[in-house]
Amino acid sequence: MKTVFEMIRDGEIPSVKLYEDDVCFVILDINPISKGHSLVISKEVYPCFTDAPLSTLGHMMEVASRVDAKLRSVLGAEGTNILINNGPAAGQEVPHLHIHVIPRYSGDGKNFIPSKDSYKDGEMAEFGARLCLD
Ligand code: AMP
Repeated sequence: MKTVFEMIRDGEIPSVKLYEDDVCFVILDINPISKGHSLVISKEVYPCFTDAPLSTLGHMMEVASRVDAKLRSVLGAEGTNILINNGPAAGQEVPHLHIHVIPRYSGDGKNFIPSKDSYKDGEMAEFGARLCLD
């Protein structure tokens, strides 16, 4: 079964498209966190971030950077959240690689990570040792 983004890619359902090239396309999110919330979507279906080639991810980040510049220059966004929900446990609803670019404004009150965790004594160093990249 096609993902909703494949159906948009193939013109089977409508979208407001901002950009397109051989690797990805950009649309406005239908349910925005703030107006102008954009999605940079791979043309090829990669269910998760970890499935995509680095060249694709690199290109999509370049496009996300252009979207960021546009949101700042046209909408006056003072910042953006650029994020990927990587897997259902992280809130990914559509199993097709996409980068959210969300305009933000000082004091707009939008919080993405409502609760934080904390380390016990010595635990942060232990996590650091376990998570060092090879
Ligand atoms: P995620 O939770 O990271 O998978 O995000 C999926 C995003 O796709 C959500 O923010 C949805 O609002 C958005 N979305 C789903 N269907 C559509 C659609 N038909 N057009 C535009 N955005 C969509």
